[in-house]
Amino acid sequence: MSKVALITGITGQDGSYLSELLLADGYEVHGIMRRASTLTTERIDHIFNPEDRTFIHYGDLTEGLDRIIYRIKPDIIFNLAAQSHVWVSFHQPVYTLMTNTVGVCSLLETIKQAEQTLGKQIRYYQASSSEMFGNTPTPETGYTEDSVFSPCSPYGAAKLASYWLTKTYRDGYNMFCSNGILFNHSSERRGYQFASRKITRAAARIALGFQDKIELGNLEAMRDEGHSRDYMRGVKLIMEHDKADDFVIATGVTNSIRQFGEKAFSHFNLDFYKYLQQSEVLKRPKEVPRLLGDSTKMRTVLGWEPEYNFDTLIEAMCDNDYKIEKKLGV
Ligand code: NAP
Ligand code: GDP
Repeated sequence: MSKVALITGITGQDGSYLSELLLADGYEVHGIMRRASTLTTERIDHIFNPEDRTFIHYGDLTEGLDRIIYRIKPDIIFNLAAQSHVWVSFHQPVYTLMTNTVGVCSLLETIKQAEQTLGKQIRYYQASSSEMFGNTPTPETGYTEDSVFSPCSPYGAAKLASYWLTKTYRDGYNMFCSNGILFNHSSERRGYQFASRKITRAAARIALGFQDKIELGNLEAMRDEGHSRDYMRGVKLIMEHDKADDFVIATGVTNSIRQFGEKAFSHFNLDFYKYLQQSEVLKRPKEVPRLLGDSTKMRTVLGWEPEYNFDTLIEAMCDNDYKIEKKLGV
């Protein structure tokens, strides 16, 4: 019989890649989506078909989701849903905590009760973040699972509380609850409001003559940036491991947003600085200066390796955005 997986945040970047990987491996995949006034299923339309082990349920993380969990009786839950934007978290801090922390706590409570009522183990994955390390000085080879946390935003603080809740339910109730501490990851499906995608899209549009400038905030922050598909392969390995644990997923290479911009624009033979406008509004009240991850544990315990590097990630994103924008033609 197929294993039943439930993914919150299935309409997001990571949810779409994870769904593909689970379906290819024979899982029955259920996803939760919020009702919105515009379509939000663009990233998963190509895989969703109830006749082929895929199902969508309306829901919101802040509901606890017991209605859905008791109905589908999942073997494994991937909690990817979140208010995932750091800048927005400074503008909507209470909402960010409601979703990213209270939502996680109510989901963990529901799972604890459901395990008893249904008489089965339900594995739980928490999408933790490198933002939790905040401004802890970066170790030479990068942050590990044992590094100190000091978040710099409502988003980072909310994710840190959820990280600890996940560990508390693991240790306190002997539940299978794992954290993936994922460093930045983008892809051809990254949201347009994140720096990486904003840059590759603008570079493609400027190359096509559809746009004449790009506004950015802080260019000096350094990020360890990988590809979402690689990272979702890692998440699947974490959840198929024989014991619940916490793992850092990162490439081990860090670059500034300035370097990302220069590289993306040079992909189209453009000079980044000719089109750049700096904006104070896009800066954050407090910034995470430098993120670099050390994935030794993922590599040695789970045999994980990323396929993409900084250059191939940018190439793939630029080429994809060029194709999309050319087709749109405006
Ligand atoms: P994303 O593309 O922004 O997707 C977020 C998903 O969460 C979307 O499906 C969104 O639904 C859903 N969502 C938001 N609020 C919700 C709520 N209250 N109830 C139900 N669903 C809700 O983010 P991502 O890049 O795939 O990231 C996945 C997870 O990993 C997030 O938890 C993020 O914080 C975490 N993370 C990401 C990175 C990264 O660099 N990408 C790094 C570390 C950790 P809509 O489509 O309706 O908006
Ligand atoms: P984050 O690392 O999860 O916050 O991912 P983002 O893509 O939102 O931001 C990455 C870095 O880019 C941060 O240091 C931002 O301050 C910086 N940045 C500079 N300009 C922009 C911008 O216009 N939008 C976003 N989202 N980030 C920007």
